[in-house]
Amino acid sequence: MSDERKHHPFGCSSWPFLWECSDFKSTPGSSSAAERGTRIHKYWEQLGKSEDLPKDYDFEEMACAQWALEALDELAQGADIEWELRVENDEPEYWGYADCVWQSDGTTLHVADGKSGQGNENQWVQLIGYAAAILKERTEITDVVLHFVYWDTKLIKTYEFSRAAVFNKVDELLHRIALGQRKVGVQCKYCAHYEGCPKTLDPLYRVWMTDWDAAWSDPDKLGALKDDLDFVAKMHDRVKDKLKELVDSGVEVPGIKVYMRPGASKVNPVKAYQALKDTVSLEDLLRCMKPDLKQLQALHQLRTGQQLEGDYIEPGKPIKVLKKSS
Ligand code: SF4
Repeated sequence: MSDERKHHPFGCSSWPFLWECSDFKSTPGSSSAAERGTRIHKYWEQLGKSEDLPKDYDFEEMACAQWALEALDELAQGADIEWELRVENDEPEYWGYADCVWQSDGTTLHVADGKSGQGNENQWVQLIGYAAAILKERTEITDVVLHFVYWDTKLIKTYEFSRAAVFNKVDELLHRIALGQRKVGVQCKYCAHYEGCPKTLDPLYRVWMTDWDAAWSDPDKLGALKDDLDFVAKMHDRVKDKLKELVDSGVEVPGIKVYMRPGASKVNPVKAYQALKDTVSLEDLLRCMKPDLKQLQALHQLRTGQQLEGDYIEPGKPIKVLKKSS
């Protein structure tokens, strides 16, 4: 993935969000999670093309890229992979870059994309866009296989479409957009219309109007309330970010004060040991350190290709997590 890569306003990465809400408009800017994903993509491509790797890579990120490459090798079965293939379409007009493209035979096209996290149910719409642009040029293709490689969860999802189905899905997307219906969802977090969008107020009104006595004893109401409260919690994050932005730009916000607190100090273990070895043994120093288990697992996997195991890994207490059921 090129660092300087630009995005088309109707780029396929917005398509899964447009599938849900016809007015979705992506915001510029980045997040630390997106930057991590970009780095792993880059390592994945560098490993795939046997290019030099940066010396200061993060073990955990590189282990994700290494796993993704092995997964891709399994999928491609030795076929020639085109990395970062630029695709262009004129109707509808867009361009973009497909992570990995190959053909398993003269008539079957494969498009694969690497993702962080566990994805969402509409992510396939993005790859439909890449496939449609490629199909216009490769008229011999009759079948399309789309793959998602999720390097965090070590999952692969595969979707199969006929040539006609790919174009039908593009038409369906355009139809959904033409209907002009807004719908709140995960996409709102990334949408430029968020602040002025009346739809984002719906969950707020519903929470406000909730009959609390009835909700506590009604599992259906509680479940629906959780979804709305999750959305409202994200609104809270948005408000906090806006307040910080206002204060940073010199605006006085009634009732809000800003203060600086010192950041958390970090210890350089090698220098600490050199400085303290007369008074602190290595064993005691290690007791004061907290090894990063994810980094250690990733480093072990990169060096040996094996999972890290051993009775020195003490499992934590199980945590109860709420998860949406389908
Ligand atoms: S903020 Fe509004 S326009 Fe944007 S995705 Fe959400 S519902 Fe759609």
